[in-house]
Amino acid sequence: MPAKTVNDIVALCKRRGFIFTGSEIYGGLGGAYDYGPYGVELMKNIRNAWWNSMIYSRDDVEGLDAALISNRLLWKYSGHEAGFSDPLVECKKCGTRMRQDKMKDQTKCDNCGSTEISEPRAYQLMMGLSIGATSDGAVNAYLRPETATTTYTNFKNVLDAKPHKLPFGIAQIGKAFRNEISPRGFVFRMREFEQAELQYFVNPVDDEKYHKMWMETRLAWWIDVLGIPAEKLRFMPHEKLAHYAKAAVDIEYQFPDGFDEVEGIHNRQDFDLGSHTKGQKDFQIQANVLENRDSTTKLSYSDPQSGENFIPYVIETAMGVNRAMLAVMLEAYNEEDLGDGKTRTVLKLKPALSPVKAAVIPLARNVPELLEISNGIVAKLRKMAIGRIELENSGNIGKNYRRHDEIGTPVCITVDHQTMEDNTVTLRYRDTMEQVRVAIEEVPAKVLEILNA
Ligand code: ATP
Repeated sequence: MPAKTVNDIVALCKRRGFIFTGSEIYGGLGGAYDYGPYGVELMKNIRNAWWNSMIYSRDDVEGLDAALISNRLLWKYSGHEAGFSDPLVECKKCGTRMRQDKMKDQTKCDNCGSTEISEPRAYQLMMGLSIGATSDGAVNAYLRPETATTTYTNFKNVLDAKPHKLPFGIAQIGKAFRNEISPRGFVFRMREFEQAELQYFVNPVDDEKYHKMWMETRLAWWIDVLGIPAEKLRFMPHEKLAHYAKAAVDIEYQFPDGFDEVEGIHNRQDFDLGSHTKGQKDFQIQANVLENRDSTTKLSYSDPQSGENFIPYVIETAMGVNRAMLAVMLEAYNEEDLGDGKTRTVLKLKPALSPVKAAVIPLARNVPELLEISNGIVAKLRKMAIGRIELENSGNIGKNYRRHDEIGTPVCITVDHQTMEDNTVTLRYRDTMEQVRVAIEEVPAKVLEILNA
């Protein structure tokens, strides 16, 4: 059975080195977390799975990795400087500050229940910076609150470097920063997080077709690649659309406390390229954009057949990588009753996502012959470059199996005294706990078989 509460995962994350509280030894910092040895591997595997399906499996999407700090003007014309805010209210009795649209009951304080709540005020979510030796301390740059805007400002660079016909996309994975009023839900809402976003540029006549296509493609990815059961996912259309959006749908996952957003799939019309382009008057921009006198570049597309020059529409898919990892862990988490009052905790991750691909375990510690054979197997597996392979030379087989169950290692390979006689080892499967004896030469092929399952 999957995790009943997020707390099950929080405890496992700390104990087994997936996620730690940021700045922990100084009391922590709200909304910041550090990823430990197995957390970095799981995040990397999720990122790679996304990159693999969004870029390597297609001809129409290019990758990009833009700077995290950017010129103020990007965020002026994107509308973030004036409008990227959440409604902040304060309890007049206990002083708690809350995001009004996320309160349990907007008439009562979430903390003390008082009904004396201030009027909402717009709270800027972007983190401002003052950079450069000539800076006088005033904000002259921002940490990006999303990857999307830096993709739009590179539209022409990418297209010039790698010509494409519409539709085509540019994808980025990277950090985003938001000064969230109340970070919560472990890594669900953080101040520093990671996004995996695609901006797909389409001819305006095709926008609805491609919005639908991306909704279907992304939902299938959550099911097939991350292994989330279809019944735990749903589409949730936005009731109130942002001024630039023609349509917006979230993919929601059923967290232990209920459904919540993990990815957004939006039809942003020509708002973004239209906002950042030079010569706005030369185009019939549909969205309501701020007059731009600073841009140096036209962000338009020339149709090779019709010769028409226009601003493409954007279909955006925007996933939170940390939320994806949280959903994956919640879903993979199992507490199994082994009978006789014994239980085991096991992360039944898809093997492609597992932080450690295989562990090689000599049955006894520091026995030179066992260690030599084990090291040989480890070296062979490492040569295959399939991810992390661990050697466990502690001599405590039960403890090793428990640890690898908890971090989701799909298979353990145990080397014992019989190995010295007949060159066979025991493969111990994570999900079934089944143990089979195989010849050492067969191990690489068996491990590949398990990883590709
Ligand atoms: P929310 O309504 O939860 O604040 P959003 O609609 O502002 O999110 P987007 O701007 O569409 O979110 O960002 C795309 C994705 O990035 C979200 O679906 C979510 O998975 C992730 N995300 C957004 N804000 C955070 C955050 N503070 N911490 C972790 N992930 C986040």
